[in-house]
Amino acid sequence: MIFVPSTTYQSKNLPMKIFGIGRNYVEHIKELGNERPDEPVIFLKPDTSLLRNNQPFYYPDFSNDIHHELEIVLRISKEGKHIDEKFAPKYYDAIGIGIDFTARDLQQKAKEKGLPWAIAKGFNGSAPVSEFLPKEDFDLQNLDFSLQVNGETRQQGNTSLMIFTFDYTIAYLSRFFTLKKGDLIYTGTPKGVAPVKPGDRLTAYIENKNLLDFEVK
Ligand code: MG
Repeated sequence: MIFVPSTTYQSKNLPMKIFGIGRNYVEHIKELGNERPDEPVIFLKPDTSLLRNNQPFYYPDFSNDIHHELEIVLRISKEGKHIDEKFAPKYYDAIGIGIDFTARDLQQKAKEKGLPWAIAKGFNGSAPVSEFLPKEDFDLQNLDFSLQVNGETRQQGNTSLMIFTFDYTIAYLSRFFTLKKGDLIYTGTPKGVAPVKPGDRLTAYIENKNLLDFEVK
C-alpha cells in the first residue's frame, strides 16, 4: 500500500479563490464603452473555472458570444489581510498568463439589469491558466504580453498601461478578503477582446515565452 501524507493530499485540494479585475486598461474600457473606475472592479471565478496544462476549452451551449480576455495572473504565496501596498510584493511569488473567458451576451444582459456577472465570468472552463514562473524573472512594471488566435496577434498588452498596479490591487483586495496561499488574481485585459469559435487555437505569451497553447472545441 502506498502511504500518501494527508498534507500532500490536502495541498492539492484546498479551496482557493480566483479574483478577476475588470476595467484595468484604459483602451479596453473604451472599446466596451465603460466608465473608468475610481477603485478596482472585482469579481470572482470558482475553482471549477480553471483549465490547466493546456486543456481544451469546450464552447458552452448557453452563449453565442464567448470573448477571450488575455490577462497576467498573480499567484498568492502567503496568507494576509489588510496588507499595506508597500508590503504587497511579499504576498505573491509568481506570475502566469491566463484567459478570462467571458460570455459577453450574458454579461451584457446582467449589466443592463444591474445584476451580478457570476455566470458570465465564472462558468466551467472560463479560466485557462499557464504554469507559473517566479516573479523575480520579470520587470513587472513593464511586462509585454500577447495573444495569438490561429497564429494572428489579437491582443497585445504591457503592464505599464494598467490603471491599478499589482501591489495596489493586492492591498485593495486584502481589505475585504483574506488572501490565502494559492489564490489567483486575473489582473485585467488590454484592448482587443473578441469572440472565439470552435476550432480556434489560442497561444499566449509573456515577453517571448509561449506559456499557454490550447484549442477551443
Ligand atoms: Mg477580464
